[in-house]
Amino acid sequence: MTKVWYPVIDYMVCTECGTCVTKCPYGVYDIKKAPSPVVKNPEACIEHCHGCGNRCPVGAITYVGEDTEWTPPNINQTKEAKKESCCSCDDSSSSCCCR
Ligand code: SF4
Ligand code: SF4
Repeated sequence: MTKVWYPVIDYMVCTECGTCVTKCPYGVYDIKKAPSPVVKNPEACIEHCHGCGNRCPVGAITYVGEDTEWTPPNINQTKEAKKESCCSCDDSSSSCCCR
């Protein structure tokens, strides 16, 4: 069976802190693009590793192939912070004045 497991970045949430890029020891991310997270070598990702997702301060990382109960640890506070943004419209589209 082909392994399918690699991180996916929600760029609408990511703050480009660079933590995931610098902390992954397997070269999955393109270090030249740091601090922007660009998945360059998805095949190098370790199946069921949540290392970068657990470190992401805003819960922007999920995984293709996710089959566990894991959810990004900081996702709820990110949602709460969004609710407290300027207009509270909860609109994730580019039409929102908060973007
Ligand atoms: S899940 Fe683990 S191996 Fe895969 S990119 Fe994140 S830290 Fe690297
Ligand atoms: S750790 Fe999270 S916020 Fe930081 S660059 Fe990676 S995806 Fe973006």
